[in-house]
Amino acid sequence: MSFSNLQLIDPLLKAIEEQQYHVPTEVQKQTIPAILEQRDVIVSAQTGTGKTAAFALPLLQLLFKNQDAPKGAKTIKALVVSPTRELALQIGNNFKAYARHTNLRTTVIFGGISDKPQIDVLTKGVDILVATPGRLIDLQKQDIVNLENVEILVIDEADLMLDMGFIDDVKTIEQSCPNNKQTLLFSATIPFKVEQLANTILKNPKRIEVANTSLAAKTINQVLYYVPKRNKMELCLHLLRNEIKGSILIFRRTKFGVDKLEKTLTKNGYNVETLHGDKSQTDRQTALKKFKNNMVNILIATDVAARGIDIDDLDAVINFDLPNISETYVHRIGRTGRAGNSGMAYSMCSADEKAYVKTIQQLIQKEIPVEENHPYPLDPQAKAIVHKSKQTGSKHKKGRKSKASKKKKRRWY
Ligand code: AMP
Repeated sequence: MSFSNLQLIDPLLKAIEEQQYHVPTEVQKQTIPAILEQRDVIVSAQTGTGKTAAFALPLLQLLFKNQDAPKGAKTIKALVVSPTRELALQIGNNFKAYARHTNLRTTVIFGGISDKPQIDVLTKGVDILVATPGRLIDLQKQDIVNLENVEILVIDEADLMLDMGFIDDVKTIEQSCPNNKQTLLFSATIPFKVEQLANTILKNPKRIEVANTSLAAKTINQVLYYVPKRNKMELCLHLLRNEIKGSILIFRRTKFGVDKLEKTLTKNGYNVETLHGDKSQTDRQTALKKFKNNMVNILIATDVAARGIDIDDLDAVINFDLPNISETYVHRIGRTGRAGNSGMAYSMCSADEKAYVKTIQQLIQKEIPVEENHPYPLDPQAKAIVHKSKQTGSKHKKGRKSKASKKKKRRWY
């Protein structure tokens, strides 16, 4: 199947050709016709599947065809809500690339920087607004953003919105748009609360699920190292010195972990950049730019900060900490081996993370090969002891911990 089979108009086909997309991806094949039929959709697809073009292309086509409507000042006709600044910028760039042979204008707004330039652009008028929820609601309260003419609303990465505590903001935004709009909801996974949200805001939606087959199709070589927690830094250094070369993305679960690893690697002569939720917008953009331009070859990030970011030509991903959610593992390793390039995913597993390996392997439906030949093997006895003490840990303690972690909900990434 080619893009022209999807009934896309020439200005879009031309832009697609310039992007050197030859055939539509699975999510594009399924989603583009449904959106062109003006149906609501709920799409379960992860980053890397081509999901941005899956909503951006038909959305542009619908707006392009509707342009005979009264001329005059541009009003916001499509709104894309995105959880993070980086993702919003990336979506905005995609829209600009796909719309370059149309007269449709896109702008991106997000918090963490002055709102003045954003207000200037909005005042001149745009057709498509890509926004993070906080800044959008701020500017709406100031009457700078008017959502009364929105024809299409896209909610991207709905499950991440939920994780980041934005779900009520999303509901408020949805209610500010007209009732008869078309709504497109995208989410990597569909947890219960996203399903509930979909049930309240979507009208007879087409459900589209794109299996994680992109993972199997990609050439990602995965390897697992069992290692005591205290030796992970040494193993990481050992791998960087002897094994892993090129552009490397290292994942840590918390921002504290990111900072700690940055210090150690810097002390050992590595040039690294970091991404986490506590960094200013400017610092995050600079870090990303340096990494993308090969000025540094190692980027250390938390899942939330790195989610959705499109980094091409990544040679390796290192899971310094194993994620407790299996889908996160899939997201992480999906950063490498893109577009037919082969990639490597290295995971370090300490005794207390063994259970995660089991659930990850269930999800990806294969065993991750274990590398036993390294200087810091996990003593099998220690493995058993840690495992046992975890199992006998008191429930009481668990309960207390979860309350505390609830309080700190937005502080660890
Ligand atoms: P996304 O899942 O939207 O983050 O897209 C992942 C990457 O795939 C981006 O770099 C897109 O530019 C690229 N892409 C999207 N659609 C296609 C396609 N049909 N063929 C090749 N690359 C694509």
